[in-house]
Amino acid sequence: MQRRNILVVGAGPVGSVAALACARFGHRVTLLEAQERIDDSPRASTTQPPTLEILAELGLIDEYIAQGLVARTFQFWDRPTRRLIAEFDFSRLRGETAYPMVVQTEQHKLANMAIKRLRCMPNAEVLLGCAVSGISQDEKQVVVAAGERHFAAEYVIGCDGGRSTVRKQIDIEFEGYTWPERFLVITTKFDFQAELGCCLRTYMADPDEWTNLFKVAGDDLKGRWRAVYNTRPDETDEEALSDDSVRARLARCYAPNADWLHLNLYSVHQRVAKNFRKGRVFLCGDAAHVNNPIGGLGLNCGIHEAWDLASLLGGDESKLDAYERRRRPLNIKYVQEQTVANKKQLEERNPAQREKRFEELR
Ligand SMILES: Cc1cc2nc3c(=O)[nH]c(=O)nc-3n(C[C@H](O)[C@H](O)[C@H](O)COP(=O)(O)OP(=O)(O)OC[C@H]3O[C@@H](n4cnc5c(N)ncnc54)[C@H](O)[C@@H]3O)c2cc1C
Repeated sequence: MQRRNILVVGAGPVGSVAALACARFGHRVTLLEAQERIDDSPRASTTQPPTLEILAELGLIDEYIAQGLVARTFQFWDRPTRRLIAEFDFSRLRGETAYPMVVQTEQHKLANMAIKRLRCMPNAEVLLGCAVSGISQDEKQVVVAAGERHFAAEYVIGCDGGRSTVRKQIDIEFEGYTWPERFLVITTKFDFQAELGCCLRTYMADPDEWTNLFKVAGDDLKGRWRAVYNTRPDETDEEALSDDSVRARLARCYAPNADWLHLNLYSVHQRVAKNFRKGRVFLCGDAAHVNNPIGGLGLNCGIHEAWDLASLLGGDESKLDAYERRRRPLNIKYVQEQTVANKKQLEERNPAQREKRFEELR
């Protein structure tokens, strides 16, 4: 195996994991992050069993579980009738995985955990406050510009999120579309499990407005819930974020007197980069694809890419095309198609179709 000199752009969860995986394979790694600190706004937290296996390989699993919550089940409800439709028990996966569970740990914790490990490794360097602005490459190397500074490497992994500068610099199209509605995340201390009898991961279908509920640990490990809703396409930011509208949304989810700690309103896309590689530059995570979060697949897919690519980079250069050949169709076929299907399932309007879908889940 060859020891490479690798630059990773973006210290979100995917970039931090990519850098840690590369460093553990013995490569010389520099991780460049634009911000001075890791963004801790509420984003992804769902971690599926195969991803937990990767985190175990990276030596992160114990801390990851300790900083999160273990969900043993997943429930699907019909919200208008307050009816539990189906419950899935992850322990049925016992024997197929060492981790028959979903772990809900906020994504900034993963990034910070990986960065902490990287800072202890002699072959790794983490530079915060270092925004990449330009990239040029030839057959031998890539040079990345970040303000006045320049970094040369054999390979660059662009993990700089949906608006990726790396992707734009290497002129790769981001094909797909943006949904007309946005998603609103209400973070609350209201205990949906105690009050409604739902579990830590609960999806509630409703043709007018669905709700997905998750419990996360929070930085204080005291626990809080995230209630995710779709907004109406014509709803303004002011309206969606107004006290009256937030209170009404919580009431429609049977939490009429709940207070909230935080609101997050964001646009949702289904997009995949036309290529995941150009020469010595690779794209991983949201830089390569974005999708709606229903099903918790996007970040998981990014972590798998980071792991896959890190294990390829020390090998024969002629094998590097396997990365795009494997990962791009996989994202289109499973992550894009499944997340669109998940969204449709939550908002199906036709009553007969709804009941048919519920029956399939049972
Ligand atoms: C508001 C919001 C809410 C979300 N909620 C959910 C959810 O509930 N469930 C779910 O599954 N998914 C959710 N997602 C998606 C999920 O957060 C992403 O899939 C995940 O963050 C992808 O990780 P990443 O490391 O690829 O990118 P990011 O987390 O976006 O990290 C990119 C990093 O690159 C850095 N960066 C950007 N440009 C540069 C540059 N030029 N130079 C250096 N560094 C740079 C950024 O500062 C950032 O640290 C949400 C996304 C958003 C935007």
